[in-house]
Amino acid sequence: MLLNPAALTKPHPDARSAEVMRKTVAFFEAKGKRRLKADYHAHVWYADFLDFVRRERIFATMCTPAGYGAPDARWDTWRICEFAEILGFYGLQYWYTWQVSVLGLGPIWMSANDDAKRRAAAALENGGIFAFGLSEQQHGADIYSTDTTLTPVGEGRYVANGRKYYIGNGNEAAMVSVFGKLAGRGTGAGEYVFFTADPRQDGYELVKNVCASQNFVSEFALHDYPVTERDILAKGQDAWDAALNTVNVGKYNLGWASIGICTHAFYEAIRHAANRRLYGMAVTDMSHVRRMFVDAYARLVAMKLFALRAADYMRSATSEDRRYLLYNPMVKMKVTTQGEAVIDLLWDAIAAKGFEKDMYFEQAAVDIRALPKLEGTVHVNIALIVKFMPGYFFAPAELPDVPRRDDAANDDFLFHQGPARGLGGIRFHDYRATFARWTLPNVTRFAEQVEVFRTMLATAPPDEAQRKDVDFLLAGGELFALVVYAQLILENARIYATDHGLVDQIFDVLVRDFSRHALELHGRRASTAPQMEAALRMIRKPVEDAARYDRVWSAMVLPLKDAYEMPA
Ligand SMILES: Cc1cc2nc3c(=O)[nH]c(=O)nc-3n(C[C@H](O)[C@H](O)[C@H](O)COP(=O)(O)OP(=O)(O)OC[C@H]3O[C@@H](n4cnc5c(N)ncnc54)[C@H](O)[C@@H]3O)c2cc1C
Repeated sequence: MLLNPAALTKPHPDARSAEVMRKTVAFFEAKGKRRLKADYHAHVWYADFLDFVRRERIFATMCTPAGYGAPDARWDTWRICEFAEILGFYGLQYWYTWQVSVLGLGPIWMSANDDAKRRAAAALENGGIFAFGLSEQQHGADIYSTDTTLTPVGEGRYVANGRKYYIGNGNEAAMVSVFGKLAGRGTGAGEYVFFTADPRQDGYELVKNVCASQNFVSEFALHDYPVTERDILAKGQDAWDAALNTVNVGKYNLGWASIGICTHAFYEAIRHAANRRLYGMAVTDMSHVRRMFVDAYARLVAMKLFALRAADYMRSATSEDRRYLLYNPMVKMKVTTQGEAVIDLLWDAIAAKGFEKDMYFEQAAVDIRALPKLEGTVHVNIALIVKFMPGYFFAPAELPDVPRRDDAANDDFLFHQGPARGLGGIRFHDYRATFARWTLPNVTRFAEQVEVFRTMLATAPPDEAQRKDVDFLLAGGELFALVVYAQLILENARIYATDHGLVDQIFDVLVRDFSRHALELHGRRASTAPQMEAALRMIRKPVEDAARYDRVWSAMVLPLKDAYEMPA
């Protein structure tokens, strides 16, 4: 299941997709770990990477929807998964300059402004990068309070004023998609608007890089920056929807950055631990270290199974089937927090080695923390998904089975998602049918825990005050998220014919996680006696199977010690 740059095995339906992956890997392998880390420590702007991207037309192929670019260009989430994973594998900074380009392109590809689309496609062909100017220093997640204004000055002309903060690529983007509000007294005043800005034009002041890193996470200011109708991407409800729908597309990629980071860190960690001898034995002979690696591996495979399955729903989405709106935020909040758990486990196993400056691990340990916090924090995403809980548990619907989507389709719907509202009405297929197809001991145990949770929701649901208490909702939201996570892992374990011993090992982890979150719910200030009693009944021990555990360790985990090492 794990990405191995020395043996890329993911199938692609066309030669160009495979070539993009192969060449991207080759670029980093030729760069080597010594230079990778030297650039990281010296905060060097990654011009070499962007030169490679331009020369090989990488972003042009990957980020231009079909019809706007060369025949090899399409927006194809199947291949985007692997590309994002590879970038994360070599460094979050390389992933980030691509990711904020994806975000910057979102409102452009979603708009009705064909001229802006043609300009964006041409810029991509020339190796351009893009930026997404949503955030402002004072307002954080509260984008309702956006202060940037666009004031009409007659004859289809406007001036933009305001400051944006934390905007990646704001130094060099070919086009910056800026979110603001229409000002003045005319029709539409006060409505949201998206327009493009050019960092090279007068009126665009690049204030500073907010972060000390290879990325340029800019603060920029617009001073009577001139805008014409040609630069306007969307107004009113369309602009608001474009902001949310762009984040829907973009936040999916954070999971893949996590997966890539964890995979590289895993190879380094197990190679080190298996070759280090203490007290006359390998570090990996110690039972707790072995357990850390088995848990880390099970978590990492689970992350990947879930994220891949979520892509199937994203690619198959329609305005009638919006299940992806639950699965996407879960890739963002669940996969990325699992990434933190993986790094924590690995770091405990390799201890001091994780601090060394020539290890990829040292950078992984820092960067893995970013992903749960950006593009909506974990809290924001849990608060979002709890809206789906009643429909998920109590109103399942007959919906089409979604197959593995590895075809060469252009993911049109992602740029035509429609209104961002109406989440409560979205229906899901019955998770109990998925669990019922499995007889593995820990899947059964997990299903028993879920049944207690479901019964609690039916008999002792959150009251009015609890529903307004985000702290309480987050505790329940973690349990809900785990059910959805488990469901899609099982769906994909069938599709990928995952070893049943490994699936049971993954559920050994999930049973423990469910117990931990149940204990959290029990301890919340607002929980009532019936809810506390139900929470305690959710706490279960996984079904022990020594033979399964030993086989996962010796046949799947330990051999990874020799699987991959980045050239110096
Ligand atoms: C390195 C970096 C790169 C970035 N790149 C970009 C970029 O390119 N473009 C861009 O537009 N932005 C970018 N951002 C901004 C990023 O998306 C914001 O950090 C994010 O939106 C959250 O805002 P905040 O961190 O200021 O948190 P705040 O909004 O200040 O949140 C404070 C706390 O309140 C909680 N909270 C807020 N709202 C809710 C809610 N509705 N429900 C529950 N809890 C809530 C949060 O979870 C958090 O704990 C970047 C940030 C960084 C650090």
